[in-house]
Amino acid sequence: MRFLPIFLDLKAGPILLVGQGELAQAKLRLLLAAGAQVRWFATDGNHDLKNFSPDESARVERASGDPLTADLSNVIAVLCAGAGDTGHAMAARAKAAGIPVNVMDEVSHSTFIFPAIVDRGDVVVAVGTGGSAPVLARRIRENIEKVLPARIGELSALIGSWRERVKMKLPDMASRRKFWERVVDGPIGTLALAGKSDDANRLLDNISDHEAFASSKSNGFVSLVGAGPGDPDLLTIKALRALQDADIVFYDDLVSAEILDRVRRDAARVSVGRRIGKPGIGQDATNALMIEAARDGKRVVRLKGGDPFVFGRGGEEVAALRDAGVAYAIIPGITAGVGAAAEFEVPLTFRKQALRITFLTAHKAEDAGNVDWTALTDTRMTVVVYMGISAASAIRDGLLKAGRPMQTPVGVFARVSRPDSKAVVGTLDDLPSLVTQIGNGPAILVIGDVVSHSLPWKNSNPQQFLTQLMMAAE
Ligand code: SAH
Repeated sequence: MRFLPIFLDLKAGPILLVGQGELAQAKLRLLLAAGAQVRWFATDGNHDLKNFSPDESARVERASGDPLTADLSNVIAVLCAGAGDTGHAMAARAKAAGIPVNVMDEVSHSTFIFPAIVDRGDVVVAVGTGGSAPVLARRIRENIEKVLPARIGELSALIGSWRERVKMKLPDMASRRKFWERVVDGPIGTLALAGKSDDANRLLDNISDHEAFASSKSNGFVSLVGAGPGDPDLLTIKALRALQDADIVFYDDLVSAEILDRVRRDAARVSVGRRIGKPGIGQDATNALMIEAARDGKRVVRLKGGDPFVFGRGGEEVAALRDAGVAYAIIPGITAGVGAAAEFEVPLTFRKQALRITFLTAHKAEDAGNVDWTALTDTRMTVVVYMGISAASAIRDGLLKAGRPMQTPVGVFARVSRPDSKAVVGTLDDLPSLVTQIGNGPAILVIGDVVSHSLPWKNSNPQQFLTQLMMAAE
């Protein structure tokens, strides 16, 4: 290592910037975003600050005169960007005065170099390659950005705000370290990262015996995670992080094998889902298992197909977790209807043609009997039906009887986002025969004029598509 990463206190004094043009602007952007005070010698006399906010501009001192003879007292570092020979002379002067100096892209004139920076408030990661490969440093930074929770800075600030109080309670450094490990690895840390800083604060406030907390087994935490329709690349970054952090995963039958592959290798996996012909373990038993695992100190993931709050019984699980006093967070997923829309290019809304969307479930013919179909006759409403395959005839009959036109386009989309996905499109009167063509589920129905914009519709009606294209071109 030639360059030691250290962090400069921007409150200690101004940074002196010498230079002009785009290079100087780039350094100004970096310094002002970081909160620095900048004394700027614009070597062409043009202190151009039009790209900065009033607050940022207020932190720039427009210096005139010769930087080579300027007063350097208080200056914490010198930067030269687009300063030509003046930069080299300035670097020599800063070195003689013992002030850290960087000449942009000229390591031989510099005593320090800039890393690529990941900025999450109090948490800052600096990546350096000794000045030899800045592009590589930026790639590494991007990868770190992806894995670092967005709210890690908030967690750090929370810890900072309790540091002194905890120090008084726990003078012994080893117990203090254990205490903060419990916080970071347990529900308090997870709550802060989930944006629930108030809850995290409350839990910290409730700790009466700090010594006991430090040596206790951590309480567990449940993440209710939406797995999306099947393609693991459709997991959110948060969902992926929860899977990779899990001690135990309770998953539904709808969750694809590819997604289970993303679960941390050592985590236990428990299927709690219903399968065709098998009832599954039931909702109460699932709730009980989750709560028990959390009370045992585990990081629990409850993994559900699509989104947990769209026909996913997430509401009931949250109620059970609340009643049990178990800490939890909800991580949304891409619901099947939205996944189908993207894959098969069905715009669920369309200007003037489709102004509303209804998500509906009609599992059995009796369920379909309970639906008020007259509320679904507006031709500008797209109807997305979950679990509607076996009730397809009843759905068609209900809609037709209520007055939705027979020729309404419908799509049946099966195994959305999986390698064997399939679409069949047609009209409402034909719905029962369409569902017989798609093979295995899961499948979703989309009913409404928007289906005529979909890719399978265009492909099944090429002549009509061409005519439309020609009309559009005219
Ligand atoms: N919470 C889930 C829905 C669970 S209900 C979500 O938000 O997507 C189960 C129904 O969802 C299935 O009967 C089917 O209609 C639909 N579904 C789930 N995954 C699907 C997929 N990959 N392709 C098509 N439909 C799917």
